[in-house]
Order: sequence, then C-alpha cells, then structure tokens
Amino acid sequence: MIPFELTILGTSSALPTSKRYPTAHVLNVCERFFLIDCGEGTQIQLRKYSVKFSRINHIFISHLHGDHYFGLIGLLSTFSLLGRQNDLHIFSHSELPEILKLQLEYLQNDIMFKIIWHPLNFKRKMVILDDEKVTVTSFPLKHRVSCCGFLFTEKTGPKNIIKEKITEYKILVRDIQFIKAGSDFIDESGKVIPNEVLTIPQKAPRKYAFVTDTSYLPKLKEILEGVNLLYHEATYDKRFSKRAKETFHSTAEQAATLAQSCHAGQLLIGHFSARYKDVSILIDEARSVFPSSVVAEEGMVIKIG
Ligand SMILES: [Zn+2]
Ligand SMILES: [Zn+2]
Repeated sequence: MIPFELTILGTSSALPTSKRYPTAHVLNVCERFFLIDCGEGTQIQLRKYSVKFSRINHIFISHLHGDHYFGLIGLLSTFSLLGRQNDLHIFSHSELPEILKLQLEYLQNDIMFKIIWHPLNFKRKMVILDDEKVTVTSFPLKHRVSCCGFLFTEKTGPKNIIKEKITEYKILVRDIQFIKAGSDFIDESGKVIPNEVLTIPQKAPRKYAFVTDTSYLPKLKEILEGVNLLYHEATYDKRFSKRAKETFHSTAEQAATLAQSCHAGQLLIGHFSARYKDVSILIDEARSVFPSSVVAEEGMVIKIG
C-alpha cells in the first residue's frame, strides 16, 4: 500500500514544555514529506524521528504566531549546511519572506537552493498544490491573526482494468486508456459494456486535515466531510470555554463535535495549553462526544485510511 502517514513532531501550544515541542507535523505521501508548521525545535524532532530532510520540498505555515514558524530559519540554515540544491516551496502568509529577509540575506551566500514562496489566501478556500499524487487545499480559520487550515487529499490515479475482460470483450489496446479513465466500452456487436463491469472499483481517496489555532467553526464540516484523519487543536477543556473563545482557540469538546459532524474516521487532538501536565481530561472530554479520538504525542506515527 502506498504510504499516507503522519508523524507528530510537536503538540504544544504557545509555550513549549520540557516534554512537548510546539506544533509541527510531517505527512508522508508516497515517500514525499510535507512539513506542516515548523515550531521551534522542528529540525531536532525531524532528526530524532528519522525523517529525511532531503525529501521535504514543501512546507506549509498556518499562521505567523511563533509557535508555528520559529523553527523555520534554523531548518533553512541546516538545509543550506547540508548542501541542499532542490527548490523549496513554502506556503505561508505573504509577509513571512519579509520577516525572514534580513536573516536570509546573511545566509544568502551559503544558500544554494531556491525558495519559492506561495502566499496563502485567508479569505476563501483555495487549491494550493495539485500534482499526480496529492491535492492540497487551504481554508480560512478564525484566529487572532490570519490563519489557514490544510486538507491533503490523495490522488487515486486511473482505474485498473480486469485482465480477463480484455479477452472476453476483445478490447483493443487503444481503448484501454479510455476505460481506465472511466468510459464504457462498445463491443463488436454494438452492445454497451458498463465501465463498472470492466474495472476494479477504486478505493476512496485518503484525506488528512490539519486544523490548528481556531475558534470553534461548525461550518468547516462541509470542507472536512469524510476526512479519514482530522487533526484539530484542543488547547483547553470545556471548563475554560470562555478563555478559549477570548483567545480564539477551541476546547476538546468542540474539536470532537466537529469530528462527529464531518463524519471523520478518527480525531487527533493537540496544541495543548502548557497548564496540562496530564492531558487525560482533554481526551476523556473528546471521547465522550467522539469515541475515535486520540491524543497527539511527539514521535507518534499514524497510518491514514
Ligand atoms: Zn499556536
Ligand atoms: Zn496562534
């Protein structure tokens, strides 16, 4: 099976703790690694959990709070020291290049690779990357500053034709590509053979959604419908729902309510406030609404779908 799996590098909100790093996830799609947020210490975590730096060509930064991007300049410097030459695509707020400009200027002579900046749109849902393996969609969240979530949808590729049917219906080579693309077939006698008879049913594409730093947004259920794994921040438990609202964050109960309404396969909660030494109150709260909830932990690897 083609890899589609997530590694958790950081699970803390604003303040890192001695056990938790700030937010960073790595999604492996077919041995390509997408880095999602890059909190302080991300490169140390990448080393610790043996993610190959050279396979990271795309970085997605949800917003410009330090716990989501302070690890980026260190990572770029390390890429340079490792002699990286591949282009690096960074999807972020349009002002991030300006913020890093001075630091990058001082590294400039050493950086042998090209950084291609892709500004995010915080007003509407956008497809920001679409290739033969994956589609990445950004969508606006509701936070103190402009913030985006990301939906990664696997491409399933063309259908597979059932070999015996080629002989049975005397299908010519030139027709095979059309059948794989979904066309019906007309045999010698003029009879229409439905595509479903000739091909193996495709599995639904696997989907991973990253929803960080946001007030509870019930309307996201449309974008997130049927997602296999939903990562949703759960900075607080419901006793602090007033504080969650004031700081544009969510409670574990709200994360679970959204997971339930979008029919997620599994909910992963993270971005925990430093006040929780033990997060069992958060996971218990989430599971009381949505039983298939799990706690994000540093180093955890989750196979999606
Ligand atoms: Zn945060
Ligand atoms: Zn934030």
